[in-house]
Amino acid sequence: MADLKQIDKSYIAGTYNRFPVAIVDGSGSEVYDENGKRYIDMGSGIGVTAFGISDDAWVEAVTAQLGKVQHMSNLYYTEPCARLAQMLCERTGFKKVFFANSGAEANECAIKVARKYACDKKGADHFTIITLKNSFHGRTITTLAATGQDHYHELFQPLTPGFVSVDAGDFEGLKAAALSNKAAAIMMECVQGEGGVIAMDPAFVRQVAEFCQAEDILLIVDEVQTGNGRTGKLYGYMHYDVQPDIISTAKGLGGGLPIGAALLGEKVENVLGFGDHGSTFGGNPVACAGAVSIIERLTPAFLEDVAAKSRYVFEAFAGCPGVESVSGLGLMVGIKTVRPAGEIVKACMERSVLCLTAKDKVRLLPALNISMDVLAEAVSVLKAVISEGAV
Ligand SMILES: *Cc1c(COP(=O)(O)O)cnc(C)c1O
Repeated sequence: MADLKQIDKSYIAGTYNRFPVAIVDGSGSEVYDENGKRYIDMGSGIGVTAFGISDDAWVEAVTAQLGKVQHMSNLYYTEPCARLAQMLCERTGFKKVFFANSGAEANECAIKVARKYACDKKGADHFTIITLKNSFHGRTITTLAATGQDHYHELFQPLTPGFVSVDAGDFEGLKAAALSNKAAAIMMECVQGEGGVIAMDPAFVRQVAEFCQAEDILLIVDEVQTGNGRTGKLYGYMHYDVQPDIISTAKGLGGGLPIGAALLGEKVENVLGFGDHGSTFGGNPVACAGAVSIIERLTPAFLEDVAAKSRYVFEAFAGCPGVESVSGLGLMVGIKTVRPAGEIVKACMERSVLCLTAKDKVRLLPALNISMDVLAEAVSVLKAVISEGAV
């Protein structure tokens, strides 16, 4: 570990402040460090390993494809990407899929589609994308511009122009900004993940959707974190009784391999033509084979089970000493604690539970198939740590 830490420090760009743990093995929601110490994983690689570590069905799907064709380029047809696209469209009603490799890239596609649609339909001055304050949409220069948090912007000026952010929940402000800026699209998360696990107000989301529909402004929902069963429905927008024109997703879609996707609705299904967009690795057959094994297991019964685990977690922390509030949706949970979140995460790690933070909250994103026993064990450690020193 000391050696690994030194090599990492010498050769890896210093963008990550890592915990002093190297995970070398695991199964489901239980992982092991190099000394064989067991941890319960309540972060699932930031919502990526939807069915846990080295889950059998996923490993089988990925290795079967790996033994056939690992990559071909988008000059040729490959089966897993076609099957995955069909499955995503049939399950959601979206019409077309563009595959990328990450959440930021899925958002870049959504933004390109929105700009082209608005330019074709209303003119080249309709390029602005309205986003929400406290949002997170990625780390590229364009998705940083979309991210409504100034502190991400400061070091990297100038960012891509044409993004304006407004307060979440302030429909009148959003409407005014959209009209005065000739907006091409509104882009939002249903639950702001990195922003502190904050679910949007349903009335606000519906107002925005109706406004978008009336003004022919596209509604883009960033489902990178909320998608693929995380909230107890297949996609987060499905809680809100709205129909976005575009959703972007990534993280849990691949179950552990890099993949992103933009799902395009009826209005925009034919906006992109030959050569308008592309990706060398996008739709990679191994990543797509893994994703098929994830999506096909997100059945209504399975999602109901996710919702039941969510209710268990919310009830367990509500009113627990040391807890100020619990927020989120499904198995995307934010806990505002009396003690600083960073302290809680560190103490939990010592007691063999790995969790995350988001802003000033402890954030939990366990694997969707975590067993009730393991979940209860993690919850009891968390409750003990959170309540320490609190009365
Ligand atoms: C993680 C995240 C992204 C960025 O995804 P990457 O795969 O890291 O590019 C974008 N939007 C949301 C809502 C996210 O949670």
